[in-house]
Amino acid sequence: MNFGLSEKKALVCAASKGLGRAVATSLAAEGVELFLCARGEEALEKTAVKIRETASQPIHSSSCDLITADGRQKLIQAVQEKLGGIDILIHNIGGPKASTVENTSLEDWQAGFERNFISVMDLNNAFLPHMKAQQWGRIVAITSTSVVQPIPNLAVSNAMRAGLTATFKTLADEVAPSGVTVNTVAPGKILTDRTEERLQSEIKRLGKTREELLKNWAEEIPMKRLGDPSEYGPTVAFLCSQQASYITGATWCVDGGKRRAPF
Ligand code: NAD
Repeated sequence: MNFGLSEKKALVCAASKGLGRAVATSLAAEGVELFLCARGEEALEKTAVKIRETASQPIHSSSCDLITADGRQKLIQAVQEKLGGIDILIHNIGGPKASTVENTSLEDWQAGFERNFISVMDLNNAFLPHMKAQQWGRIVAITSTSVVQPIPNLAVSNAMRAGLTATFKTLADEVAPSGVTVNTVAPGKILTDRTEERLQSEIKRLGKTREELLKNWAEEIPMKRLGDPSEYGPTVAFLCSQQASYITGATWCVDGGKRRAPF
């Protein structure tokens, strides 16, 4: 299927690794001109070089820290200088610190809010007016299945992603008449660097082997395996497609059936 995106321009946040990189790779394959950002310069450049190997359209990149207002402002300026307005905005950033509700300090709540909520609103404010003016736009946020089934010990993440999902539903209603769709795609357990880090800390904590732990994790998933990022990227690319023009305010899970609720 041709997604009809070859004339489009996208900003993909946190695109150097994992799910962000998978989304960037899928959009690049559809001919989308990309601006990639992430925190670490080296990994970002490596990803940009890899994507350029098969893309004929320009692939721009610039490292940035999305947590700070200053970092976001520099990014917004760089994207506007290179691309003018964008058609597609993919929100992503690393998750907040793990903690229980009782053990989360007020500073950690505030830091999580800035990281996983304010940063998203800041970029929306910058890029949405152009999408509305041209009567076409796609906004997708990478979230987590915790929005429907909170994950123990991820208090801040559970709260921020649920709040973001509700806000995206509200925004989807507001901008629907302008041809802009707003959706979220919730991963379950997908094997990325972040997942590998969690795996390594659990190996230390529980004294189990990698294989034992992966088997335990897979047991909770109807498909009995973790996902691969290449199974996530195309879903986001589809939501950005011309064919997805009637899908908005939705949360799609890419989780091998892990979420135990029907909706
Ligand atoms: P990853 O560690 O593989 O990649 C993280 C990316 O975020 C990197 O490109 C990194 O540079 C970028 N990043 C981190 N902090 C940043 C900052 N301050 N500014 C700019 N870029 C920053 O992680 P992933 O597994 O791809 O996860 C992506 C998001 O999805 C995270 O929020 C994670 O919590 C969430 N998530 C992932 C899974 C999963 O199974 N992988 C499941 C649920 C939720």
